[in-house]
Amino acid sequence: MIRVFRHECQLANPFGIARETKTTVPVVLAHVDGGWGEASPLKFYGESADSAAATLEKYNSLDLPDLDQVEDVIDAVEAAIPGEAAARCALDIALWDRLGRRLGAPLWKMFGKGPTRPMVTSFTIGIDTMETMLRKADEAAQYSILKIKLGRDVAQDLAFMTELRRRMPEKTLRVDANAGYSLDDALRAAAALADLGVEYLEQPLARGAFDDLKRLKDASPMPIFVDEDSHTARDLPRLAGIVDGINIKLMKTGGITEARRMIALARTLGMRVMIGCMIETAVGITAAGHLAPYADNLDLDGNLLTVNDPFTGLKCSPDGTLTLPDGPGLGVELRPEYADRFA
Ligand code: MG
Repeated sequence: MIRVFRHECQLANPFGIARETKTTVPVVLAHVDGGWGEASPLKFYGESADSAAATLEKYNSLDLPDLDQVEDVIDAVEAAIPGEAAARCALDIALWDRLGRRLGAPLWKMFGKGPTRPMVTSFTIGIDTMETMLRKADEAAQYSILKIKLGRDVAQDLAFMTELRRRMPEKTLRVDANAGYSLDDALRAAAALADLGVEYLEQPLARGAFDDLKRLKDASPMPIFVDEDSHTARDLPRLAGIVDGINIKLMKTGGITEARRMIALARTLGMRVMIGCMIETAVGITAAGHLAPYADNLDLDGNLLTVNDPFTGLKCSPDGTLTLPDGPGLGVELRPEYADRFA
Protein backbone atom coordinates (compact mmCIF):
# COMPACT_ATOMS: atom_id res chain seq x y z
CA MET A 1 0.00 0.00 0.00
CA ILE A 2 1.47 3.34 -1.11
CA ARG A 3 0.64 6.30 1.12
CA VAL A 4 0.95 9.69 -0.54
CA PHE A 5 1.89 12.99 1.13
CA ARG A 6 2.24 16.47 -0.37
CA HIS A 7 4.94 18.96 0.61
CA GLU A 8 5.75 22.46 -0.61
CA CYS A 9 9.53 23.11 -0.69
CA GLN A 10 10.20 26.75 0.20
CA LEU A 11 13.28 28.15 -1.54
CA ALA A 12 15.79 30.31 0.34
CA ASN A 13 16.02 32.59 -2.73
CA PRO A 14 13.94 32.80 -5.93
CA PHE A 15 15.56 30.22 -8.26
CA GLY A 16 15.86 31.18 -11.93
CA ILE A 17 16.84 29.03 -14.90
CA ALA A 18 16.64 29.88 -18.62
CA ARG A 19 12.88 29.21 -18.91
CA GLU A 20 11.40 30.24 -15.52
CA THR A 21 11.91 31.46 -11.95
CA LYS A 22 10.45 29.69 -8.90
CA THR A 23 9.99 30.52 -5.21
CA THR A 24 8.32 27.27 -4.08
CA VAL A 25 8.33 23.73 -5.49
CA PRO A 26 5.56 21.22 -4.71
CA VAL A 27 6.78 17.64 -4.22
CA VAL A 28 5.03 14.35 -3.44
CA LEU A 29 6.34 11.90 -0.86
CA ALA A 30 5.46 8.21 -1.00
CA HIS A 31 5.60 5.83 1.97
CA VAL A 32 5.53 2.08 1.33
CA ASP A 33 5.80 -0.36 4.24
CA GLY A 34 8.57 1.60 6.02
CA GLY A 35 10.28 2.97 2.89
CA TRP A 36 10.24 6.61 1.77
CA GLY A 37 10.30 7.87 -1.81
CA GLU A 38 9.82 11.22 -3.53
CA ALA A 39 8.51 12.74 -6.75
CA SER A 40 9.58 16.27 -7.75
CA PRO A 41 7.74 16.56 -11.08
CA LEU A 42 8.62 19.08 -13.79
CA LYS A 43 5.97 20.95 -15.78
CA PHE A 44 8.52 21.09 -18.66
CA TYR A 45 8.10 17.31 -18.96
CA GLY A 46 4.29 17.45 -18.74
CA GLU A 47 4.12 16.33 -15.10
CA SER A 48 2.82 18.02 -11.93
CA ALA A 49 2.45 17.27 -8.23
CA ASP A 50 -1.24 16.54 -8.96
CA SER A 51 -0.45 14.08 -11.75
CA ALA A 52 2.30 12.42 -9.69
CA ALA A 53 0.04 12.03 -6.64
CA ALA A 54 -2.81 10.67 -8.81
CA THR A 55 -0.44 8.21 -10.52
CA LEU A 56 0.88 6.93 -7.17
CA GLU A 57 -2.73 6.37 -6.03
CA LYS A 58 -3.39 4.45 -9.28
CA TYR A 59 -0.43 2.14 -8.60
CA ASN A 60 -2.37 0.95 -5.54
CA SER A 61 -4.99 -0.61 -7.81
CA LEU A 62 -2.42 -2.62 -9.84
CA ASP A 63 -1.63 -6.26 -9.18
CA LEU A 64 2.11 -5.94 -8.54
CA PRO A 65 4.93 -8.51 -8.15
CA ASP A 66 6.53 -9.14 -4.71
CA LEU A 67 7.70 -5.70 -3.50
CA ASP A 68 11.19 -7.11 -2.74
CA GLN A 69 11.64 -7.54 -6.51
CA VAL A 70 12.05 -3.82 -7.10
CA GLU A 71 13.05 -4.09 -10.77
CA ASP A 72 10.06 -6.32 -11.57
CA VAL A 73 7.68 -3.94 -9.80
CA ILE A 74 9.06 -0.89 -11.62
CA ASP A 75 8.92 -2.59 -15.03
CA ALA A 76 5.32 -3.62 -14.26
CA VAL A 77 4.13 -0.13 -13.29
CA GLU A 78 5.85 1.42 -16.32
CA ALA A 79 4.15 -1.08 -18.62
CA ALA A 80 0.75 -0.43 -16.98
CA ILE A 81 1.05 3.37 -16.69
CA PRO A 82 3.67 4.83 -19.08
CA GLY A 83 5.06 8.33 -18.54
CA GLU A 84 4.89 10.05 -15.14
CA ALA A 85 8.58 9.36 -14.44
CA ALA A 86 8.57 11.32 -11.16
CA ALA A 87 5.73 9.23 -9.70
CA ARG A 88 7.48 6.00 -10.72
CA CYS A 89 10.65 7.42 -9.17
CA ALA A 90 8.85 7.95 -5.85
CA LEU A 91 7.74 4.30 -5.82
CA ASP A 92 11.17 3.07 -6.91
CA ILE A 93 13.02 4.99 -4.18
CA ALA A 94 10.51 3.88 -1.55
CA LEU A 95 10.94 0.22 -2.58
CA TRP A 96 14.75 0.42 -2.48
CA ASP A 97 14.55 2.13 0.93
CA ARG A 98 12.13 -0.55 2.13
CA LEU A 99 14.37 -3.37 0.88
CA GLY A 100 17.51 -1.86 2.42
CA ARG A 101 15.75 -1.47 5.76
CA ARG A 102 14.58 -5.09 5.63
CA LEU A 103 18.09 -6.32 4.83
CA GLY A 104 19.72 -3.92 7.31
CA ALA A 105 22.12 -2.41 4.76
CA PRO A 106 22.61 1.05 3.23
CA LEU A 107 21.77 1.11 -0.47
CA TRP A 108 25.32 1.94 -1.59
CA LYS A 109 26.53 -1.20 0.19
CA MET A 110 23.76 -3.28 -1.40
CA PHE A 111 24.94 -1.98 -4.79
CA GLY A 112 28.53 -2.84 -3.80
CA LYS A 113 30.02 0.49 -4.83
CA GLY A 114 31.42 2.82 -2.19
CA PRO A 115 33.19 6.18 -2.54
CA THR A 116 36.84 5.81 -3.58
CA ARG A 117 37.52 9.57 -3.52
CA PRO A 118 35.81 12.59 -1.95
CA MET A 119 32.32 13.18 -3.39
CA VAL A 120 31.85 16.90 -3.90
CA THR A 121 28.66 18.55 -5.11
CA SER A 122 28.47 21.81 -6.96
CA PHE A 123 26.31 24.57 -5.51
CA THR A 124 23.96 26.20 -8.00
CA ILE A 125 23.58 29.92 -8.64
CA GLY A 126 20.24 30.59 -10.35
CA ILE A 127 19.63 33.27 -12.98
CA ASP A 128 18.95 36.76 -11.64
CA THR A 129 20.32 40.25 -12.19
CA MET A 130 24.11 40.36 -12.52
CA GLU A 131 24.37 42.13 -9.17
CA THR A 132 22.25 39.52 -7.38
CA MET A 133 24.09 36.61 -9.03
CA LEU A 134 27.45 38.06 -7.98
CA ARG A 135 26.15 38.50 -4.43
CA LYS A 136 24.85 34.90 -4.37
CA ALA A 137 28.18 33.65 -5.71
CA ASP A 138 30.04 35.59 -3.00
CA GLU A 139 27.73 34.11 -0.36
CA ALA A 140 28.43 30.63 -1.74
CA ALA A 141 32.22 31.15 -1.91
CA GLN A 142 32.71 28.38 0.70
CA TYR A 143 31.68 25.75 -1.89
CA SER A 144 34.57 24.45 -3.95
CA ILE A 145 32.44 24.07 -7.11
CA LEU A 146 29.80 26.51 -8.39
CA LYS A 147 27.31 25.68 -11.14
CA ILE A 148 26.02 28.82 -12.84
CA LYS A 149 22.63 28.91 -14.55
CA LEU A 150 22.79 30.86 -17.82
CA GLY A 151 20.97 30.74 -21.15
CA ARG A 152 18.72 33.80 -21.38
CA ASP A 153 21.13 36.21 -23.18
CA VAL A 154 24.57 35.09 -24.30
CA ALA A 155 26.17 38.56 -24.24
CA GLN A 156 25.02 39.21 -20.65
CA ASP A 157 25.97 35.65 -19.69
CA LEU A 158 29.53 36.10 -20.89
CA ALA A 159 29.86 39.51 -19.23
CA PHE A 160 28.74 37.91 -15.96
CA MET A 161 31.11 34.95 -16.28
CA THR A 162 34.05 37.25 -17.08
CA GLU A 163 33.38 39.27 -13.93
CA LEU A 164 32.83 36.13 -11.82
CA ARG A 165 36.13 34.64 -13.01
CA ARG A 166 37.91 37.93 -12.21
CA ARG A 167 36.58 37.71 -8.64
CA MET A 168 37.16 33.95 -8.26
CA PRO A 169 40.27 33.07 -10.26
CA GLU A 170 40.69 29.58 -8.76
CA LYS A 171 37.09 28.38 -8.38
CA THR A 172 35.85 25.32 -10.28
CA LEU A 173 32.98 26.67 -12.39
CA ARG A 174 30.40 24.79 -14.45
CA VAL A 175 27.64 26.29 -16.59
CA ASP A 176 24.10 25.08 -17.36
CA ALA A 177 22.22 26.91 -20.13
CA ASN A 178 19.05 24.77 -19.77
CA ALA A 179 18.41 24.59 -23.53
CA GLY A 180 18.48 28.39 -23.86
CA TYR A 181 21.01 28.90 -26.67
CA SER A 182 20.92 28.82 -30.45
CA LEU A 183 23.83 27.04 -32.15
CA ASP A 184 25.56 30.39 -32.78
CA ASP A 185 25.10 31.41 -29.13
CA ALA A 186 26.44 28.05 -27.98
CA LEU A 187 29.52 28.19 -30.23
CA ARG A 188 30.28 31.69 -28.95
CA ALA A 189 29.67 30.68 -25.32
CA ALA A 190 31.77 27.50 -25.57
CA ALA A 191 34.77 29.41 -26.95
CA ALA A 192 34.54 32.17 -24.32
CA LEU A 193 33.80 29.85 -21.38
CA ALA A 194 36.72 27.60 -22.33
CA ASP A 195 38.99 30.66 -22.19
CA LEU A 196 37.62 31.42 -18.72
CA GLY A 197 38.51 27.89 -17.59
CA VAL A 198 34.91 26.71 -17.13
CA GLU A 199 34.92 22.92 -16.69
CA TYR A 200 31.94 22.04 -18.90
CA LEU A 201 28.79 23.42 -20.52
CA GLU A 202 25.51 21.64 -19.80
CA GLN A 203 22.55 21.47 -22.23
CA PRO A 204 23.30 24.57 -24.29
CA LEU A 205 20.86 23.69 -27.09
CA ALA A 206 17.14 22.98 -27.35
CA ARG A 207 16.02 19.44 -26.59
CA GLY A 208 16.34 17.17 -29.62
CA ALA A 209 18.64 19.45 -31.67
CA PHE A 210 20.98 16.53 -32.41
CA ASP A 211 22.42 17.86 -35.71
CA ASP A 212 23.38 21.14 -34.04
CA LEU A 213 24.72 19.21 -31.05
CA LYS A 214 27.10 17.34 -33.36
CA ARG A 215 28.28 20.63 -34.96
CA LEU A 216 28.79 22.12 -31.51
CA LYS A 217 30.68 19.09 -30.20
CA ASP A 218 32.96 19.08 -33.27
CA ALA A 219 33.82 22.77 -32.83
CA SER A 220 33.72 23.18 -29.03
CA PRO A 221 36.99 23.58 -27.12
CA MET A 222 35.21 22.46 -23.93
CA PRO A 223 33.18 19.39 -22.90
CA ILE A 224 29.45 19.46 -23.65
CA PHE A 225 27.00 17.65 -21.36
CA VAL A 226 23.27 17.11 -21.90
CA ASP A 227 20.48 16.95 -19.34
CA GLU A 228 17.10 17.70 -20.98
CA ASP A 229 18.20 15.33 -23.82
CA SER A 230 19.07 12.35 -21.58
CA HIS A 231 16.16 10.89 -19.64
CA THR A 232 16.61 7.11 -19.77
CA ALA A 233 19.03 4.56 -21.20
CA ARG A 234 16.96 4.57 -24.41
CA ASP A 235 18.15 8.14 -25.11
CA LEU A 236 21.84 7.29 -25.01
CA PRO A 237 22.66 5.46 -28.28
CA ARG A 238 21.77 8.50 -30.42
CA LEU A 239 23.86 10.78 -28.14
CA ALA A 240 26.98 8.61 -28.49
CA GLY A 241 29.80 10.61 -30.06
CA ILE A 242 27.92 13.92 -30.03
CA VAL A 243 28.20 14.71 -26.30
CA ASP A 244 30.96 14.29 -23.72
CA GLY A 245 28.70 13.52 -20.80
CA ILE A 246 25.16 13.19 -19.51
CA ASN A 247 23.33 14.44 -16.44
CA ILE A 248 21.33 11.61 -14.84
CA LYS A 249 18.46 12.63 -12.57
CA LEU A 250 16.16 10.20 -10.78
CA MET A 251 13.09 12.32 -11.61
CA LYS A 252 13.81 11.78 -15.33
CA THR A 253 14.88 8.12 -15.21
CA GLY A 254 11.91 7.10 -13.06
CA GLY A 255 14.14 6.01 -10.19
CA ILE A 256 17.31 4.27 -9.07
CA THR A 257 16.64 1.10 -11.09
CA GLU A 258 16.72 2.83 -14.48
CA ALA A 259 19.49 5.21 -13.35
CA ARG A 260 21.75 2.18 -12.73
CA ARG A 261 21.01 0.81 -16.21
CA MET A 262 21.76 4.24 -17.63
CA ILE A 263 25.09 4.55 -15.80
CA ALA A 264 26.17 1.15 -17.16
CA LEU A 265 25.24 2.08 -20.74
CA ALA A 266 26.82 5.54 -20.52
CA ARG A 267 30.09 3.94 -19.43
CA THR A 268 29.90 1.46 -22.29
CA LEU A 269 29.42 4.35 -24.72
CA GLY A 270 32.37 6.30 -23.24
CA MET A 271 30.31 9.11 -21.75
CA ARG A 272 31.10 10.98 -18.55
CA VAL A 273 28.41 10.65 -15.90
CA MET A 274 27.04 13.47 -13.83
CA ILE A 275 24.36 12.89 -11.19
CA GLY A 276 22.00 15.79 -10.70
CA CYS A 277 18.68 16.58 -9.08
CA MET A 278 15.62 18.79 -9.09
CA ILE A 279 14.54 20.87 -6.09
CA GLU A 280 13.88 17.96 -3.73
CA THR A 281 13.84 17.03 -0.05
CA ALA A 282 16.58 14.89 1.48
CA VAL A 283 14.64 11.78 0.36
CA GLY A 284 15.27 12.36 -3.36
CA ILE A 285 18.73 13.87 -2.85
CA THR A 286 19.90 11.01 -0.61
CA ALA A 287 18.58 8.42 -3.08
CA ALA A 288 20.71 10.06 -5.80
CA GLY A 289 23.60 10.22 -3.32
CA HIS A 290 23.68 6.42 -3.09
CA LEU A 291 24.65 6.44 -6.81
CA ALA A 292 27.26 9.18 -6.33
CA PRO A 293 30.16 6.70 -6.08
CA TYR A 294 29.54 5.88 -9.77
CA ALA A 295 29.66 9.51 -10.97
CA ASP A 296 32.39 11.79 -12.33
CA ASN A 297 30.53 14.95 -11.35
CA LEU A 298 27.82 15.70 -8.82
CA ASP A 299 25.14 18.35 -8.59
CA LEU A 300 23.17 17.27 -5.53
CA ASP A 301 22.30 20.56 -3.90
CA GLY A 302 18.50 20.57 -4.42
CA ASN A 303 17.72 20.45 -0.71
CA LEU A 304 20.44 22.98 0.19
CA LEU A 305 18.42 25.59 -1.73
CA THR A 306 15.34 25.02 0.47
CA VAL A 307 14.55 26.10 4.04
CA ASN A 308 11.96 23.49 5.12
CA ASP A 309 13.33 20.00 4.45
CA PRO A 310 11.23 17.51 6.47
CA PHE A 311 14.02 14.90 6.31
CA THR A 312 17.70 14.46 7.12
CA GLY A 313 19.92 12.20 5.03
CA LEU A 314 22.92 12.87 2.80
CA LYS A 315 25.24 15.25 4.67
CA CYS A 316 26.92 18.16 2.95
CA SER A 317 29.96 19.86 4.54
CA PRO A 318 30.49 23.62 4.06
CA ASP A 319 32.71 23.08 0.98
CA GLY A 320 30.20 20.72 -0.67
CA THR A 321 31.77 17.38 0.30
CA LEU A 322 29.04 14.76 0.69
CA THR A 323 28.84 11.98 3.26
CA LEU A 324 26.43 9.07 2.79
CA PRO A 325 24.38 8.06 5.83
CA ASP A 326 25.15 4.59 7.31
CA GLY A 327 21.55 3.75 8.27
CA PRO A 328 19.80 0.94 6.39
CA GLY A 329 18.13 1.70 3.05
CA LEU A 330 18.35 5.38 2.19
CA GLY A 331 19.33 6.27 5.75
CA VAL A 332 16.91 9.20 5.78
CA GLU A 333 15.01 10.24 8.89
CA LEU A 334 11.87 12.31 9.27
CA ARG A 335 12.49 15.35 11.45
CA PRO A 336 10.39 15.10 14.64
CA GLU A 337 8.55 18.38 13.91
CA TYR A 338 7.07 16.79 10.75
CA ALA A 339 6.04 13.53 12.44
CA ASP A 340 2.36 14.53 12.72
CA ARG A 341 2.02 15.73 9.12
CA PHE A 342 3.56 12.56 7.68
CA ALA A 343 2.01 10.10 10.15
MG1 MG B 1 20.63 20.87 -16.09
